[in-house]
Amino acid sequence: MDEISCNLLIIGAGPGGYTCAIRAGQLGIDTIVIEAEKPGGTCLNVGCIPSKALIHAAGEYETIARAAEGKSAFGIFTEKPTLDFARTVAWKDSIVRRLNGGVAGLLKRAGVRFVAGRARFRDGKMVEVETPSGPQMVHAEAVVIATGSKPIELPSLPFGGRVISSTEALALIEVPKRLVVVGGGYIGLELGTAFAKLGAAVTVVESEPRILPQYDGDLSGPVARHLRVLGVAVLTGAKAKALAADGTALATETADGGQTTLEADKILVTVGRKPATTGFGLDLLDLDMDGPSIRIDDGCRTSMRGVFAIGDVTGEPMLAHRAMAQGEIVAEIIAGRRRAWDRISIPAICFTDPEIVTVGLSPSEASSEAFEIKTDLFPFKANGRALTLDREDGFIRTVARADNHLLLGIQAVGAGIAELSAAFSLALEMGARLEDIAMTIHAHPTQSEAFHEAALKSLGHAIHI
Ligand code: FAD
Repeated sequence: MDEISCNLLIIGAGPGGYTCAIRAGQLGIDTIVIEAEKPGGTCLNVGCIPSKALIHAAGEYETIARAAEGKSAFGIFTEKPTLDFARTVAWKDSIVRRLNGGVAGLLKRAGVRFVAGRARFRDGKMVEVETPSGPQMVHAEAVVIATGSKPIELPSLPFGGRVISSTEALALIEVPKRLVVVGGGYIGLELGTAFAKLGAAVTVVESEPRILPQYDGDLSGPVARHLRVLGVAVLTGAKAKALAADGTALATETADGGQTTLEADKILVTVGRKPATTGFGLDLLDLDMDGPSIRIDDGCRTSMRGVFAIGDVTGEPMLAHRAMAQGEIVAEIIAGRRRAWDRISIPAICFTDPEIVTVGLSPSEASSEAFEIKTDLFPFKANGRALTLDREDGFIRTVARADNHLLLGIQAVGAGIAELSAAFSLALEMGARLEDIAMTIHAHPTQSEAFHEAALKSLGHAIHI
């Protein structure tokens, strides 16, 4: 069997793996990355990018549809729009293809060798790859496991037929008439909202008492309210049981213990994702695990010397930007630099409508630390820019230490506020205090002024409320 060797072998070319490979290439490390599917991983092919394309297209369609129903606040009237969903899908796919090519080009420019095929460990330094032209052995000094994650399947509702995961939902070629979403977390709500805007009758089944249960009720409230405006039915405290006998409906137990049957053309199960740790000989390495994910230290080292792990395979938070940051750190460690994970926060965004951004500690997380906190919020209903967008539901909230005003966390919910996440993250990483935000001029009229005002309010002298 053919054998090639390198200094660094990376399994998986998702955001973690390809970032690690590019940085390693820049640092002059002889690097091979192996990918069973397409460059870009879950995020680019069946996650972040196609979902945001669909969400954007759906938003555009809904704006026109609302105008056609005479519901535009701006005095705009039009005919009922028609949707050529095949073209929507083609547009989404063209973005994915463009970025696939972009990642492949960046890898090439960094001098990284790309091997297409599925890798399987032989030992901690040797991997066998099933390539289209036959098996290939790859020997490496260091290995990075960046195999990502997979959707969790409910045993009573296995994937197949009408029961789909986010991957199949993003590959649909027509908008389902009736869509049931099992799981009211961010993936289910992002996709459920998009399909509702595109005209599907959507029902969300969530077993917890609230949607987005990982967030506090203040943050999830505006999202729940907007789902109602969109006509999405939300069953909280309800449990999806199984497909009804003829396979066209979902048997569901409601919060009061009753039974209901939800007719559905598609049942989208989004109850979480699990690290991809099986099917590639990982058991041969006998690595220490942290529940279902690979245990790592602050340099992404596993329990085996020379073997690193990054991204979703190392557990929560399963986010592309965390995987990328880990990838850079590992490449630099392998290049001999002293690096460790020392980030204060990992921003998280729900691209629901409105969007939710969280950075650092929530008020309840901060309260459990050994100091007093100050927390205040500024509502978008007092923000001029939000009013000009006709989207005033939401707020920006700051959480700071009471003694020295050091910012510990920032949370926000509002239309289109994802782009503010960078300002929030920077404030935390730079060790900003409430006074730093208060003394920074925030351009008018922008939604970012609500950040300024939340800090002022916490200091006792908000201007616009
Ligand atoms: P992945 O992107 O999963 O990549 C792993 C790669 O490894 C895959 O390409 C796989 O084919 C390959 N692989 C696995 N095993 C092998 C093997 N044995 N041999 C060769 N190759 C192998 N995150 C965000 O930050 N923002 C978002 O808005 C966002 N939206 C999302 C929306 C959806 C619908 C989904 C499903 C996810 C979303 N995520 C989002 C999460 C994000 O996609 C992941 O956190 C990110 O892709 C993780 O990157 P990774 O490199 O760890 O793994």
